Amino acid sequence: MKEKKKDNKDKLAGNGKQVQLKGIPAAPGIAIGTAHVFGTENVLPTSREITEAGIPAEISRFKDALAKTRKDILAIEKKISREMGVEHGKIFSAHLLVLEDSVLVKEVITRLSKKKKNIESVFAEVLDKYVGVLAEAKDEYLRDRIADITDVGKRILRNLTGIEERSMESLDEKSIIIAYDLSPSDTAMMHKGRVLGFATDIGGRTSHTAIMAKSLEIPAVVGLESITDAVKNGDRVILDGLHGVVIVNPSGKLVEKYEKEKKKYEALEKGLIEIRSLPSETLDGKKVGVAGNIELPEDVASVVSHGAEGIGLYRTEYFYMNRKDLPSEEEQFNAYKSVAQRIKPQSVVVRTLDLGGDKFLSQLDVPREMNPFLGWRAIRFCLARPDIFKSQLRAIMRASVYGNLKMMYPMISGVTEFRQANELLEDVKKELRKEGKPFNEDIEVGAMIEVPSAAITSNILAKEADFFSIGTNDLIQYSLAVDRVNEKIAYLYEPTHPAVLELVRMVIQNGHNEGIPVAMCGEMAGDISLTLILMGLGLDEFSTSPIAVPEIKKIVRSVNYFDAREIAEKALKFNTGREILEFSRAKLLEMVPDLAEDLA
Ligand code: PEP
Ligand code: MG
Repeated sequence: MKEKKKDNKDKLAGNGKQVQLKGIPAAPGIAIGTAHVFGTENVLPTSREITEAGIPAEISRFKDALAKTRKDILAIEKKISREMGVEHGKIFSAHLLVLEDSVLVKEVITRLSKKKKNIESVFAEVLDKYVGVLAEAKDEYLRDRIADITDVGKRILRNLTGIEERSMESLDEKSIIIAYDLSPSDTAMMHKGRVLGFATDIGGRTSHTAIMAKSLEIPAVVGLESITDAVKNGDRVILDGLHGVVIVNPSGKLVEKYEKEKKKYEALEKGLIEIRSLPSETLDGKKVGVAGNIELPEDVASVVSHGAEGIGLYRTEYFYMNRKDLPSEEEQFNAYKSVAQRIKPQSVVVRTLDLGGDKFLSQLDVPREMNPFLGWRAIRFCLARPDIFKSQLRAIMRASVYGNLKMMYPMISGVTEFRQANELLEDVKKELRKEGKPFNEDIEVGAMIEVPSAAITSNILAKEADFFSIGTNDLIQYSLAVDRVNEKIAYLYEPTHPAVLELVRMVIQNGHNEGIPVAMCGEMAGDISLTLILMGLGLDEFSTSPIAVPEIKKIVRSVNYFDAREIAEKALKFNTGREILEFSRAKLLEMVPDLAEDLA
């Protein structure tokens, strides 16, 4: 975070010069327009001394302000629930809880008696202290709640001081809002017609402001750290909520490029709405699953809105990253349970901890290795640390009764590792039975096929696994000996290399010989150039980042399975990856010409 701040600061130029800042994508979409800098609201009260005799009057002013704030919040809650749905209204129920926090109220009154200062300045001090404590919290969720507390705090202060609320109503033209921060109330008051997008210095992916922006479908980038220094009122701004980028004073050429991107995105969104509720099956009626990949429970909304049929890969290691401690079993259970409940009746495949490679955990003090991708990674780490692994398995199993939940192990290199992992799973099941904690006895347990040895012995693994999911990001790097994060050799990283396709073919065939389904969840599954070949090889399910789902679904719905099989058969006869890619693209253009621009 600190690094990024420095990066962004260094890029500040001012004087109409083009400046690009990188932040956190909060809501997708592209906006191009004029900046409206939304000033920081000054509700900081001046401090004034009071006498002992004046204390009761201050307390009564405080109680009146609390009552008035309560009324205000209830009115907003009603409005938001009516206009945006009860779920969003609930944000304001959380605000009511802040008001009812007796510790906060007591602390204000105690401090008032001690300091003998006017109630607004005492309240501002206590609020500041609360925010300070939350800002230090390790938990991102807790830190994101600062916005809620500040929002309520400002309301109380406004009711004490009589300072008017800043308002989006004053916008007289369509603008991109630039602000240090926006409270959930500010965001809720945004009018889609007037606000093209917004960008803030602070804020995280899970803040309510970000969540609201998504449901209002207003493109947004948060956590830019210095956007308010880089932009002045009236500047031209491009806001790319898909990639978390804001460009101030862009060149004409760049505006042109983004106008095109915007059109493309809007056309895709339009198509998406049409296609999302349609079944994913070929013209001749073969069902081909198209699921979404997620990293965090909040990503479920995007899976659903893009019309994916379930979650084919839930990468759980993000739970363990960016924090000083390990997540507790309870914390994990709650997350898995919430995902299972939200995606029900469709399924979610929870992938057990895949730490190592390019994903390190500071709290575990794992030694640095010469070849981390070939080292103490994923299932190897988990089998060596059953304490950590079993806590995750317990959480997954306990969550399994709340929906259609499956699990899979990453980086399995052969059947021995698969059995060892299952032995630990059996221990966990025994423990849970003994404790009387319910779980799904028939939970499906799959193997990720991402190591060439697993692909080659997939005939053996298929006898014991309930399903396969091909992790092509790793399968390609291991089979072609191309480090997936080394840009110097990126030209060798070829999904259409005949060796890769042969391994994929073999895994699908071996899976089907034993009657188990085979999915693919690496990036290759989201590459539309390859969809026809993969369908033709008999892949049962594509699992990809939600944004790629509509296009894959469109291809599936535009062709006959019979034709796809013929294409795959022909493709496998070429000698080089380049020839296969060209052939496959030409076929796609012939069969689904609408996708021409996307392929280009
Ligand atoms: C893969 O390797 O293809 C995969 C899906 O896992 P990850 O990208 O998390 O290693
Ligand atoms: Mg992998």
